[in-house]
Amino acid sequence: MKAKKIAIVTGANRGIGFETCRQLSELGITTILTSRDVEKGRKAVSELNSVSREVLFHQLDVADLESILALKKFVFEEFNRCDILVNNAGVFLDRGEKLLNLDEDTLQLTLRINFLGALKMCQEFLPMMQATGYGRVVNVSSGMGSIASLSGGSAAYKLSKLMMNGMTRILAAEIGEGDVKINTMAPGWVRTDMGGPNAPRSLAQGA
Ligand code: NAP
Repeated sequence: MKAKKIAIVTGANRGIGFETCRQLSELGITTILTSRDVEKGRKAVSELNSVSREVLFHQLDVADLESILALKKFVFEEFNRCDILVNNAGVFLDRGEKLLNLDEDTLQLTLRINFLGALKMCQEFLPMMQATGYGRVVNVSSGMGSIASLSGGSAAYKLSKLMMNGMTRILAAEIGEGDVKINTMAPGWVRTDMGGPNAPRSLAQGA
């Protein structure tokens, strides 16, 4: 019998990450819903498991290396494999602000979560995928980080996604051919806390 696939989703206590966990678990994939806040994460898992889906919880703050390493230890010891990683966790802290006025703390925090967090997750979990010869990494980016459409405002968020796009291409080249693949995707403008109530896309479409 083939081993069940194991997926990790970051920032999954709400929004697109939560819905992604729902959809992955519906495909029969053992899904680790992660959240930086334990209480919110457990509540989200119990919501999904109430209709008997296989979703597990583990704490994860992508800005905290110790937290990433604790998740890695758990995954290694429980499953010794990771088939799918969805780097979804993200913040949008400088909506509409001008780059000329952007303060360094906001820029650093945004890059730490949106870019470095995703990169660190790749560095820790891609080798596990390479060891089994199978893996899919999906980096949740944004059209706002597309170099072709860069415009003024929200620079911390846009640059964090631009860097995410760049690191994905570099990692893809370094991984090379085979059945371990890495991509970025943009969910479109989705009705979440970040996207707001006027976004045209539903959670299900975004996920
Ligand atoms: P959301 O509703 O604001 O959810 C963001 C999630 O990220 C929350 O679970 C949040 O946890 C988590 N998070 C923030 N910092 C974290 C950290 N340090 N460690 C772990 N988790 C952390 O946003 P969303 O709309 O679902 O967005 C999900 C992804 O899609 C983001 O990467 C975003 O940039 C991207 N995106 C969204 C849209 C859109 O229209 N919604 C468009 C383009 C791209 P807490 O609850 O603890 O804050």
